[in-house]
Amino acid sequence: MAKRLDGIREVLARTVKSRCALCGDAASDSGLCTSCREDLPWLPAARCQSCALPTPDGALCGVCLRSPPSHDGVACAVTYEFPVDALVRALKYHGRLAAARPLAGILARALTREPPPDLLLPLPLSDARLVERGFNQTAEIARLLSGPWRTATGRGILGRIGRARPQASLSLDARRRNVKGTFECLGQVGGLRIAILDDVMTSGATLDEAARVLKRAGAVSVRGWVVARTPRAGD
Ligand SMILES: [Zn+2]
Ligand SMILES: [Zn+2]
Repeated sequence: MAKRLDGIREVLARTVKSRCALCGDAASDSGLCTSCREDLPWLPAARCQSCALPTPDGALCGVCLRSPPSHDGVACAVTYEFPVDALVRALKYHGRLAAARPLAGILARALTREPPPDLLLPLPLSDARLVERGFNQTAEIARLLSGPWRTATGRGILGRIGRARPQASLSLDARRRNVKGTFECLGQVGGLRIAILDDVMTSGATLDEAARVLKRAGAVSVRGWVVARTPRAGD
């Protein structure tokens, strides 16, 4: 029986892996077919190294120059728009775990020049949100990264205290105030180079606050690994 179950699991894994999550055609290991992958809203190479927004010559954007974030930069792959938003929503709100594979594949394209960190921290959910959702989408994406990016993930090192108010209508300053005090460092991070994995970055206030807490606890560097970035209008 156990053997049969193993066989079924293997077929399921192959099926999920071998079909493009967007069009159903044959897919590579990244979970997308070549043509859907090429059509994604990839960010241009010239972008702000701090917040991943496109800038004319790849310089820091005005916002990051005026108020530098606590983190040391962001590696991000695509703009948060169709069809990436559909994949993120399928994973997050409809529990379609198969969508984590293409999202990990998309993120991997932004990581080729990233130094492998000592520790990869999927951005945690609050306990209440985790119970409600049943899984943390950032941990699912982290689990599916491959090669040198499959770094040790620290469970329970970064804790999330309570729930920040919804941020959609807030300005950047208000977002920063809103997320202040929502993370705590529960493990040893002294001297470590850390990457925080998040699915979508809007203003960057959440990532910034997590980085601030980790640095105060002794982390030497904190970078953001983010699948998708909302356009400036979302700030
Ligand atoms: Zn496809
Ligand atoms: Zn910026």
